[in-house]
Amino acid sequence: MPKLASLKTCTGCMACVDSCKFDSLKLSYSINGFIIPKVDSNKCVECGKCEIVCPILNKETSKNELSNAKAYGAWSINDKIREKSTSGGIFGQIAFDFITKNKGYVIGASLIQNSVKHIVISHVPDIQKLQGSKYLQSETNGIYLKTLELLQKGEHVLFSGTPCQIQGLYSYIRNRNNYENLFTIEVVCHGVPSTSLYKYNIEKNNVDKVISFRDKVDGWHKGSAAMTYILRGGKKIRLKPKNHDFFLNSFGRDLSLRLSCYNCTFSTLPRVSDITLADYWGIKDWENEWEKGVSLVIVNNEKGRQLLNNPNIVKHPTEWDKCLPKNPRIYNCKNLHSLLSYSNRLNFILKTFPYSVNYFLLSARISNKNLIWLPYKILVKIIGAIVKFYNRRTLNKMLTKLKS
Ligand SMILES: Cc1cc2nc3c(=O)[nH]c(=O)nc-3n(C[C@H](O)[C@H](O)[C@H](O)COP(=O)(O)OP(=O)(O)OC[C@H]3O[C@@H](n4cnc5c(N)ncnc54)[C@H](O)[C@@H]3O)c2cc1C
Ligand code: SF4
Ligand code: SF4
Ligand code: SF4
Repeated sequence: MPKLASLKTCTGCMACVDSCKFDSLKLSYSINGFIIPKVDSNKCVECGKCEIVCPILNKETSKNELSNAKAYGAWSINDKIREKSTSGGIFGQIAFDFITKNKGYVIGASLIQNSVKHIVISHVPDIQKLQGSKYLQSETNGIYLKTLELLQKGEHVLFSGTPCQIQGLYSYIRNRNNYENLFTIEVVCHGVPSTSLYKYNIEKNNVDKVISFRDKVDGWHKGSAAMTYILRGGKKIRLKPKNHDFFLNSFGRDLSLRLSCYNCTFSTLPRVSDITLADYWGIKDWENEWEKGVSLVIVNNEKGRQLLNNPNIVKHPTEWDKCLPKNPRIYNCKNLHSLLSYSNRLNFILKTFPYSVNYFLLSARISNKNLIWLPYKILVKIIGAIVKFYNRRTLNKMLTKLKS
């Protein structure tokens, strides 16, 4: 039987699953709700291919040069594209041009029947299926094989996803330099939450259909995380974290992330893909654009430069000490919220305690009047302060590296 990455380090990228020619690896979910590969010992011939492909076992890191990285504040000039996107609509605009000019294929995460899966599109109306952040790990089994088939036919492919998925693709195809037509876009990723928690929340809220995880109803700059649901019975509701969406609260506070996300090899500079997209948090410039959304774009290499060289994108070079401080996941692979995390015990917690207890525990939203929970609240504050201190230290080290 192959020895794949451990439960603590596996990113759930699924590159190993696509590498198996004997149909003996499948996508599965761990007891706490995280995507993992599952080996069928009856079919496995112990060829070792999956171990060769795994980016974690092989300690794969970015092949980009730190000195080539350049940061921009940017947005699409097309308001329709920008409105459907999370920040400045850069992904949608690049995808639009990739399909119309190159007749290319675009790959990314789509919300399908309350789950998130990677799909391939090649028509402009389908771009909206990939737009917008879905705060759940996308199922990528099968997508690396499809990508390789397209590349081998000489097609242009734009592959997007979280950094671990981009690295999963690079490891799967082995030598990215063989594929001139492959372009990659990663979203900066602070982690993915447990699918068990997501399903529990849906069940408790009587949700029939999840519509979105974020929108711009209140404008981008005010923080636009909000779950929109169609309830059983047809009523549409929109819950912001402070309106008791405890799934978003728990995700925002990093309490139920995948274990690998607390120590993510790929959440640092130099970044993995050709282009990196983030929200430009902490922005001080271009105030007139805040309502509609501004992306922080990091161009990591020549292919990234080609993608951003687009007349439909407004881009302004920006300094690292302006754009990094409010977005630690760009430069800091360690997240010390692991000290408070329930990720290892979610199955037990969700099955044992009533909703009211889980609500406090998993979202850490505790009223000052609630004295029983006060020691826990103090602990959350202390850990929060340690995290801030650690992030500032790591930021200073990264800024020194970037200046040298
Ligand atoms: C799980 C997750 C965590 C994130 N954490 C941060 C963060 O800490 N800081 C920050 O600045 N930005 C974060 N982002 C990225 C940010 O929300 C925007 O995606 C980014 O600003 C790009 O915006 P856009 O307007 O250009 O495009 P959009 O249209 O918003 O982005 C669409 C792109 O996101 C990809 N995508 C959406 N959901 C998923 C998913 N579940 N898995 C893989 N790919 C997905 C699509 O494939 C597509 O490439 C996160 C995104 C995700 C999905
Ligand atoms: S060792 Fe070979 S046959 Fe077994 S799961 Fe891995 S790739 Fe498949
Ligand atoms: S290839 Fe990806 S999913 Fe498979 S074991 Fe390695 S990290 Fe986990
Ligand atoms: S934080 Fe890292 S390991 Fe977790 S989903 Fe994002 S890129 Fe993958």
